[in-house]
Amino acid sequence: MSRPIVATVNQQALRHNLAVVRQAAPSSRVWSVVKANAYGHGIRRVWQSLAETDGFALLNMEEAILLREQGWKKPILLLEGFFHPEDLQLIDRYRLTTSVHSNWQIQALTQAQLSAPVDIYVKVNSGMNRLGFRPEQVNAVWQALRALPNVAEMTLMAHFADAENPQGLIEPMKCIEQAAEGLQCPRSLSNSAATLWHPEAHFDWVRPGIVLYGASPSGNWQDIASTGLQPVMTLTSEIIGVQQLQAGDGVGYGYRYHASAAQRIGVVACGYADGYPRHAPTGTPVSVDGVRTRTLGAISMDMMMIDLEPCPQAGIGSKVELWGEQVKIDDVAKAAGTVGYELMCALAPRVPVEII
Ligand SMILES: *Cc1c(COP(=O)(O)O)cnc(C)c1O
Repeated sequence: MSRPIVATVNQQALRHNLAVVRQAAPSSRVWSVVKANAYGHGIRRVWQSLAETDGFALLNMEEAILLREQGWKKPILLLEGFFHPEDLQLIDRYRLTTSVHSNWQIQALTQAQLSAPVDIYVKVNSGMNRLGFRPEQVNAVWQALRALPNVAEMTLMAHFADAENPQGLIEPMKCIEQAAEGLQCPRSLSNSAATLWHPEAHFDWVRPGIVLYGASPSGNWQDIASTGLQPVMTLTSEIIGVQQLQAGDGVGYGYRYHASAAQRIGVVACGYADGYPRHAPTGTPVSVDGVRTRTLGAISMDMMMIDLEPCPQAGIGSKVELWGEQVKIDDVAKAAGTVGYELMCALAPRVPVEII
């Protein structure tokens, strides 16, 4: 028998979340972001549930080719563009849309021998100082690219550093306006947070990622509670051992938790080698047979200990939800000092995944 840990991926929730995005941005087309193996959910597993999307956005050539081989015919956007001039041959062969964020890429596009012109996204650095041209460079870059026989449709693209903040788009939108001045250009600007909370930034194509998987871009589950977004991934395991503690007993590596009175605890088959955050402190929420309780002490590689005082019926074999419907991944992430994005992406390959 295998360990009882399993991650389920809910196809209906994916479809539903895409519909929520459509409602939030009814006039925009949608790039569903499936980078990082669909935020840990498995691109191969999830793409068909998102097939109502207008395009898929990702960054690995391998992931793009996989989608084409699986039969996806609509657009695919390479969010970070190409990494080497030779990649343009694959972009050509698989009909991919690529972002362009650096001068060397313009050079490569000038020199490449392609079978047909490719669609490109010109990336503006709107203040995050990650990828992109500075706003004052964009006009010249745009004209240069427009003149290339290898370039077909062009779209202006930017990414927000702080879209969960109500004021977070004010400065970036000024940069984008400056960059777009005098250009007739479609735009793609909005990540999940801007898709939900900044309709003024929707324009032609939105690029939601995290909300498709049912977690909050702000890290706060309450911020999306009214949207109807549903968690897609549920991580469950079982209690495989029970200990009866007495006052003063320590628990786990470093005895980071001590019982202050008699206490029953459960040992769960889930640890940091499964992708559960090792930094989750005592008190991180878990649910046992639907009853909310908490972790105790350090998370081990393969196991963790939890408080069974709120659930006296629970014992060996009881179902434990680490995150999902009952325990929001955002709440686990917050307790561990991270965000749902990181937990999803960190789901370990050794955890079996069931698609439901
Ligand atoms: C990851 C990413 C997104 C999606 O971000 P979410 O916060 O998950 O919605 C959109 N655009 C770019 C360029 C990205 O890298």
